[in-house]
Amino acid sequence: MADIYMDNNATTKVDPLVVEAMLPYFTEQFGNASSMHSFGDRVGKAIKEARARVQHLLGAAHESEIVFTSCGTESDSTAILSALKALPERREIITTVVEHPAILSLCDYLEKQLGDDGYVVHRLRVDEKGRLDLKEYRKKLSEKTAIVSAMWANNETGTIFPVEEMAELAKGVGAQFHTDAVQAVGKLPINLKDTAIDMLSLSGHKLHAPKGVGVLYLRRGTRFRPLLRGGHQERGRRAGTENSASIVGLGKAAELAMEHMVFENTCVKAMRDRLEKGILAAVPNCFVTGDPDHRLPNTANIAFEYIEGEGILLLLNKEGIAASSGSACTSGSLEPSHVMKAMSIPYTAAHGTVRFSLSRYNTMDEVDRVIAAVPPIMAHLRSLSPYWNEDGPVAAEEAFAPRYA
Ligand code: PLP
Repeated sequence: MADIYMDNNATTKVDPLVVEAMLPYFTEQFGNASSMHSFGDRVGKAIKEARARVQHLLGAAHESEIVFTSCGTESDSTAILSALKALPERREIITTVVEHPAILSLCDYLEKQLGDDGYVVHRLRVDEKGRLDLKEYRKKLSEKTAIVSAMWANNETGTIFPVEEMAELAKGVGAQFHTDAVQAVGKLPINLKDTAIDMLSLSGHKLHAPKGVGVLYLRRGTRFRPLLRGGHQERGRRAGTENSASIVGLGKAAELAMEHMVFENTCVKAMRDRLEKGILAAVPNCFVTGDPDHRLPNTANIAFEYIEGEGILLLLNKEGIAASSGSACTSGSLEPSHVMKAMSIPYTAAHGTVRFSLSRYNTMDEVDRVIAAVPPIMAHLRSLSPYWNEDGPVAAEEAFAPRYA
């Protein structure tokens, strides 16, 4: 039986049509888009077409608002560092406690800088469903805010933030608004021209394009300072010879994402819902994390009490099922993820969270195979747990003895 891949928030399979679109750009169409001859010209035209496709996916007003980068992390860094340079009199950053490390470690770094270069970082908290408190946000926003960076959707739980509303509020105080939409693009309809969002990051490998290509959306008129200076590629906003094959691939992936948007929000969602329902019905003491009303259609993050997530992943992997415990970047560490901690998920459950993230390549048959595979794995692991016996969890005071440091 073929293995089952349900780790699409970590990375996705490159769509075969994307590979097909890219191949000529490794062989006969190898020109440099900046060159003044037909080899370069043909590649330049292909990049222009890819830009238009990404513009369409994002509902951006102008093609020139799409800047190709190397990944989501680069787009995130570019956005934040640009805002700080463009608005030097403003020294404050607002972000959230559940951002991806691409944002959080940069903010930690900026905060720790000494002297005049140090910034004040406000990290907005979330409730037990991963929701932001907009009252807290309003309180932190001020004329001192240079940039607000809030993710469109969380990579671990799929929780969606009200970024459009947040962008309007940021505009009210003259701050720039950036959203890390790496997990949202391709899964949710997006129409940037109707919003006040100034900058948005996306990453090719999360939407069936290859790794090593991303986009920074930059609203026309946004004050901007490039991270990479050099040649005049990307209108001087991101120097470096274009990764033309990958850009063409991302363009094709954007076109396909538009075509599959309804499928993603109906069929993929139906598979995800069936998976959650099936597991919750068959396994005692587990629950779905995140905002039940505002969640990505593909993401199921389930907390299994009294079990270690790593153990679950190993046994799932033995059954040919690929999932993840929290974000791919944090797995390997035994500490519960910063997202689970921020949501105050009890210690005994935060350790046992598993993220199943689906894509259009999954099938109902695969979902049923996972639903059948999970209960015996949980029963086995709980039989080894000091916090579980044949009657269920042991006395609460013992079971909850371990605590967050
Ligand atoms: N932001 C979010 C929400 C992500 O999930 C990821 C990757 O997991 C990134 C940023 C980083 O993207 P990239 O791997 O393209 O640098």
